[in-house]
Amino acid sequence: MDRSIDRNPELKLAGREARTERTVVRLRNGAEFGAETLAVCAGPCSVESAGQIDLTASGVARAGANVLRGGAFKPRTSPYAFQGLGPAALELLRAAADRDGLAVVTEVLDPRDVPIVARYADMLQIGARNMQNFALLREAGESGVPILLKRGPSATIAEWLMAAEYILLAGNDQVVLCERGVRSFDPATRNLLDLSAIPLLAGLTHLPVIVDPSHGTGLARLVQPMASAGVAAGADGLLVEVHPDPAAAVSDGPQSLSIEAFGSLMERLGTVAAAVGRRLPAARIIARSAPAPQ
Ligand code: PEP
Ligand code: MN
Repeated sequence: MDRSIDRNPELKLAGREARTERTVVRLRNGAEFGAETLAVCAGPCSVESAGQIDLTASGVARAGANVLRGGAFKPRTSPYAFQGLGPAALELLRAAADRDGLAVVTEVLDPRDVPIVARYADMLQIGARNMQNFALLREAGESGVPILLKRGPSATIAEWLMAAEYILLAGNDQVVLCERGVRSFDPATRNLLDLSAIPLLAGLTHLPVIVDPSHGTGLARLVQPMASAGVAAGADGLLVEVHPDPAAAVSDGPQSLSIEAFGSLMERLGTVAAAVGRRLPAARIIARSAPAPQ
């Protein structure tokens, strides 16, 4: 049986043959996806408060992350679950990221929200559940803002690449793919993180690929080893959920790392990155004013 998907003539823009050079997606703060230095995106599942996002931003910046993540508009399975703080969260994210020299990536759920999210974020996340929301792909493409396109929970590699093709066709070549696990028969992990997708995609597309070991496993204790494995497999970066108090998180607490655990992940990751010819971003110096004297 011919399993080859590497001669898909429909991948006119996303296919490996479309560009000789690999695409490097650069954000305004200098974070790069697809370069020797990895992109490290870290932050809570949901933005919950100014205190929570400020503490997380400074903690992850100090550990070496260069992009702050956090959901303002949340795709929740239940309509009764917390749906995100919306525009207020965009303001909080932007302010926290600017204080610490971080870029912002956050999810856009609805084509009508692309302009407001694009006003605050450096990169728009299209979530797994929306990977084939073609109206959203087109609108996000037309914004010209870099896009993080997550793999759908049951999307084939070919379907995922065709979703990227929609964005490129809309005139936006700043697309990063994010492997976040696919649904499997086994409830032992939340999803089955498909690390074979990373070297496979390297042969099929010029677009950068990052790994999300948080949604990919659903279990905080698996995040560090799978982050290392992702980088070893050739990922151009990571997306990791970090919360100052994971037990109190309003969403995805069980898979969230504390700031301390994220620090030790980054410490261990340095040697793995070096072994495959990559580097971690330099830790940001946090220029916050000292607490006011009592
Ligand atoms: C998220 O990043 O918080 C998220 C909802 O991810 P996914 O779309 O991969 O489920
Ligand atoms: Mn989440």
